[in-house]
Amino acid sequence: MLKPGSTIGILGGGQLGRMLAMAAAQLGYRCIAYAPEKDPVAGDVCADLFTNDWHDAKAMAAFAQKCDVITWEFENVPVEPLAPLTQRLAPHPRALETAQDRVLEKRFVENLGGRPAPWKAVDDRGDLMEAIERIGTPGILKTRRDGYDGKGQWRMASARDAEGFNRTGTPLVYEGLVAFEAEFSVILVRGKDGAVRYWDSPHNVHESGILARSSLPAPAVVTEQVESARALAKQVADALDYVGVLTCEFFATRQGPVFNEMAPRVHNSGHWTIEGAATSQFENHIRAICGLPLGDTATTGSAVAMENIIGKAAAKAHAFLADPDAHLHLYGKATAREGRKMGHVTRVTHG
Ligand code: AMP
Repeated sequence: MLKPGSTIGILGGGQLGRMLAMAAAQLGYRCIAYAPEKDPVAGDVCADLFTNDWHDAKAMAAFAQKCDVITWEFENVPVEPLAPLTQRLAPHPRALETAQDRVLEKRFVENLGGRPAPWKAVDDRGDLMEAIERIGTPGILKTRRDGYDGKGQWRMASARDAEGFNRTGTPLVYEGLVAFEAEFSVILVRGKDGAVRYWDSPHNVHESGILARSSLPAPAVVTEQVESARALAKQVADALDYVGVLTCEFFATRQGPVFNEMAPRVHNSGHWTIEGAATSQFENHIRAICGLPLGDTATTGSAVAMENIIGKAAAKAHAFLADPDAHLHLYGKATAREGRKMGHVTRVTHG
């Protein structure tokens, strides 16, 4: 159990790190961030900030020396420079390795009995044509690595789109488009002793590949599938001997849950837990990596809605303060680029 006053290192400098650091502060810990990005908003609420490159071994060692435990908020942290830090890392970097490559991730989940969308690895045009012949259209071509928020994805409505596609050369994966009824996520926390707790699974709505809103209660088509989705998510967590918050995203289809992807970290679809659950995903992640008892994950309201504030919408975000039921979170980002997550607002209904 990590004593209050200990230091938690966070790899990555985005809003997830910012909210983790705020939860850690409440439990008496101090955080330092390592974030080689332009606008590391986690740095605003951390005691120290390293802005060095991921591959700067000297800086990484100096950072690690200051930390009692190290976690990440960004799933594309390169794994190789983390090797000397493994003893102090939670979760174990094998979770990062698996989640960073869509092909490894799908194979891993299939080996556990999970069902992703039909897929094929695509390295060249021949692979793409074969994939389309076997899986059919419509489908989505995605980069194997480094994709997030719908980036690095191309929809293929017909074989003709594939013929005109000229981005081969980067490792890709082709997926059949899933005709889903709804999307949802399983957000769980696993402690060092292997105990697992789940939050209620929200109904997630994406627009242009970016999460727009998450809400509870989820429709029946989701709640009926949560048990089997949870069973798979737990298998994933157990197989990785995972410590902390893990999120698995699913499509609810007429044939049951189809695994989309996993995020080995706190997740946007769990932001509602700050005001809408007995213990937030951020606090429970900190509890888990520090070896503290996990908190209750029960939903506290009868309904919860979390809406993302994206791009230029942030300029008008203070208008939400006129609504007494709205909890506004702004991430302190300087530039409101199109599609950039700038904040979120959560409403919890009681009674
Ligand atoms: P991803 O980054 O892979 O989670 O994709 C972002 C969003 O695009 C998902 O949440 C879905 O709304 C949509 N999407 C991605 N892959 C598929 C698929 N195979 N079938 C249907 N929709 C998809």
